[in-house]
Amino acid sequence: MSSIELIDIAKSWGDATALQSVNLQIEPGSFCVLLGPSGCGKSTTLRILAGLETATRGRVVIDGRDVTALPPAQRGIAMVFQNYALFPHLSVAENIGFGLSVRKTPAAESARRLREVAALLGLDALLDRKPSQLSGGQQQRVALGRALVAQAKVCLMDEPLSNLDAQLRQDMRRELRELQRQLGLTVVYVTHDQTEAMSMADQVVLLNRGRIEQAGLPRTLYARP
Ligand code: ADP
Ligand code: ADP
Repeated sequence: MSSIELIDIAKSWGDATALQSVNLQIEPGSFCVLLGPSGCGKSTTLRILAGLETATRGRVVIDGRDVTALPPAQRGIAMVFQNYALFPHLSVAENIGFGLSVRKTPAAESARRLREVAALLGLDALLDRKPSQLSGGQQQRVALGRALVAQAKVCLMDEPLSNLDAQLRQDMRRELRELQRQLGLTVVYVTHDQTEAMSMADQVVLLNRGRIEQAGLPRTLYARP
């Protein structure tokens, strides 16, 4: 299980400031939710953590290792996005296995991991389908599968459930938490949905205008709408 630390992170584009001095510690194997209104800096925080964006100042430490200067692929993290970002012309199996083929994982090992992840997510019967032949919930599971197959210990999620209808979203929240516990993943999860944050998080981090306003257990937080 992996710990995460953000130390004095700041980010500006010219004179537009997205983040100012963000300090955050995330326990190994915990589920941390970044909550706040649109434009408060949630995605920027996640992207800096992932290495998709370079901070103007500060350090990112994962598992005690300073990864600030490392590219995304060397940070030992997986990511799940809101729009799933699946390849439409590839099958479910190929979508899930994409990262493995890029990393030249041996075929037998790839096949084993693919079977494991498909079983875990209930996708066994859908491996030959194209994303367009799947429901929203199934597509979301494929996106999750692609993240899990890499066996990263840290998973970053940017509004992964926001394209699903209310009932499915509720089911997937529970499912995601069960998976996260089962695999010992450290998750950083972005949402602007207060109910989602309160029902899922071990730690809620409330951002406002690029600063952490409050952080703590869901029940100890007073969150403004
Ligand atoms: P959130 O995810 O909470 O909606 P973001 O992290 O996307 O917020 O954005 C934080 C702030 O930084 C916003 O004011 C946004 O307009 C600004 N911002 C984000 N990306 C860029 C960029 N590439 N160039 C300039 N400003 C940006
Ligand atoms: P979200 O609110 O879901 O985080 P946005 O629509 O704010 O997403 O941003 C989508 C993309 O546009 C991101 O890559 C972000 O960095 C970029 N972006 C956001 N705000 C600005 C901005 N003011 N100027 C330039 N790029 C921006």
